[in-house]
Amino acid sequence: MGTLSIVGTPIGNLGDITLRALETLREADVIACEDTRVTSRLLARYDIQKPLLIFHARSGKLASDRILTALAEGKRVALVTDAGTPGISDPGNELVKIVRERLGEDVRIEAIPGPSAVAAALSIAGVHSDAFTFLGFLPHKKGRQTLFKEIAESERTVVFYESPHRIEKALASLAEVLPEDRIVTVARELTKIHESLVQGQAKEVAEYFSKHTEEVRGEFVVIVSPC
Ligand code: SAM
Repeated sequence: MGTLSIVGTPIGNLGDITLRALETLREADVIACEDTRVTSRLLARYDIQKPLLIFHARSGKLASDRILTALAEGKRVALVTDAGTPGISDPGNELVKIVRERLGEDVRIEAIPGPSAVAAALSIAGVHSDAFTFLGFLPHKKGRQTLFKEIAESERTVVFYESPHRIEKALASLAEVLPEDRIVTVARELTKIHESLVQGQAKEVAEYFSKHTEEVRGEFVVIVSPC
């Protein structure tokens, strides 16, 4: 029986990898990854050499067929994505779905948990996080404004991922719709050299980034929470 291991990898700092993840990568017959350059850097750090198969949002049927064949031959396939936990706002869950549908009970799918930006951001924000709504990436156009209104109406903490191209616009939209009793936290470049956290009312956070344009780069998690 083949094994598909879903392996969490660092979200920035290459030291953030579990012993079990390293063991799994070392024992894998093949590693499926999004971007070979990103994964090669991680593997080089731990002196792991394995054949890599590309699997990403646009890699198509050929890529998934190769992985299905390896699993059907009884091989150990480790799936990693560019950062964090495969399946959290990245193509990881696509592969798991295909493998479950096509190979069912003939393959063992196991979780090798690791970091995720959503958990890392909440862990340092100091906001209500016993229960929260995670929206992943917001749509770029259709439905975006409606979602901002829903975030404003939510009494729960809401978390979403945002790119540097849209972070300022997202903060401006939040400043328009959020009531004053909401706190916005922007966690940036977590676990990396330029890690930072900016917290305050939406208007204050939006103003911060419009004054510090050099910080409008990198990777962002946005948290909207009740005071
Ligand atoms: N699977 C990943 C996870 O478990 O967090 C998320 C992958 S998603 C394609 C990438 C997005 O996650 C980035 O655009 C950013 O919003 C967020 N992200 C990833 N790494 C981050 C970091 N070091 N600091 C802040 N946000 C990060």
